[in-house]
Amino acid sequence: MVGGVHLIYRPDLLTPEQRARVIGLLGAAYGDPPDEWPANELDFHRLTAAGWRPTPFRQIVLKVNSRCNLSCTYCYVYHQADQNWRQQPVTMSPAVVEATAHRLSAHAKTHELSRMQIILHGGEPLLAGHDHLRSVVTRFLAAVDDVTAVEFALQTNGTLIDEMFLELCQEFGIRVGVSVDGDLAVNDRRRTRRNGSGSHAAVARGLHLLTSDRFRSVFAGLLCVIDPASDPVDVYESLLAWRPPSLDLLLPHGNWTARPPARDSDETSTPYADWLGRVFDRWYPAPSHETDIRLFLEIISLILGGHSRIETVGLSPSSVVVVETDGSIEQVDALKSAYHGAASTGLTVTRNDLDEALRHPGIIARQLGSAALGPECARCPVHRVCGGGYYPHRYQAGSGFRNRSVYCPDLFALITRIGRQIRADIEKGKAAG
Ligand code: SF4
Repeated sequence: MVGGVHLIYRPDLLTPEQRARVIGLLGAAYGDPPDEWPANELDFHRLTAAGWRPTPFRQIVLKVNSRCNLSCTYCYVYHQADQNWRQQPVTMSPAVVEATAHRLSAHAKTHELSRMQIILHGGEPLLAGHDHLRSVVTRFLAAVDDVTAVEFALQTNGTLIDEMFLELCQEFGIRVGVSVDGDLAVNDRRRTRRNGSGSHAAVARGLHLLTSDRFRSVFAGLLCVIDPASDPVDVYESLLAWRPPSLDLLLPHGNWTARPPARDSDETSTPYADWLGRVFDRWYPAPSHETDIRLFLEIISLILGGHSRIETVGLSPSSVVVVETDGSIEQVDALKSAYHGAASTGLTVTRNDLDEALRHPGIIARQLGSAALGPECARCPVHRVCGGGYYPHRYQAGSGFRNRSVYCPDLFALITRIGRQIRADIEKGKAAG
């Protein structure tokens, strides 16, 4: 029953578009659509009886503020399928902070974790204000005993960075990542304010301060969402000018039902692999190491037989959980791009342990490795490196998440290209003795 009305859900009678709409509506009321994978298949008790064990959470994404002073065109929080932010309190209350800190401490003790990372996130976390950020950090530090080292990171749009905030980061060792998509022209096409004006001038002001000698020690790196219409080498070099220790180049969120820009059904076109390939060709042979491009480093490590440390490639189990401003425990928030309610677990820090979230089918699916792959990925020669792509990008209304990534052609092309380069270097190394 939704809003007092009984609904009979007959997916077989609907077009794919109608199904997507209904699933979006039902998601708000029920969580995962019950006829889609993983909700219809993964059962925690059956899996653990068969010997599978969940991976404890090591990264908590804390939504300290649910609103933003920007309105980027591709934002999964405000401009994609999920609209839950409208119901969220603007700022996380002290009671929710306290409850989350208590849950995190209990989780660390239960699983004897020596280290946990808390990522202060939003919306825009700096809108929470300096005093609130200080009180959040101090509450967490007070709640967790000495056995577990707590590290803090913060992801910001960069427009509100000031000295007082950076002094706070220095005091508590908070590492700051900034989202920026390139130079003024590229960035301001999509990273805009609600009135349509660009954000680059304000971000550049913040980055000048963050990258100054005084504050550079807290600079974690830059995060850029790829615009396939931009020139990749120009974007890379404009970001490199800030001397970021690391650079995340992200694929815009989308899936088989709501395709990302330029990722149409022509499987012979690979706009994102072409874009990333040109950056790789500029970055890889550079005479000195310019920055860590995490996607490339992870792919190289996986090709060489290592494990992934990011969720976007590889088969390593995810250990990330999100807590919203109202205390809801959620799955990775990029799932908001799939359908309304896709990230929901139905749990909250005020009533539930974090361990309960480990039993949620959506979280299990992101920890199952190759067992969560669809048949096409299982047969694919690069599946150990690719991992089927980022979980939210596998979604298709009607079947769920057991599909190859909507970026499959790009992932295959990029991994193959990097693999060729690495194998050639290994051969060269062998020949040189
Ligand atoms: S390249 Fe495509 S088929 Fe292969 S593992 Fe990745 S998403 Fe699956």
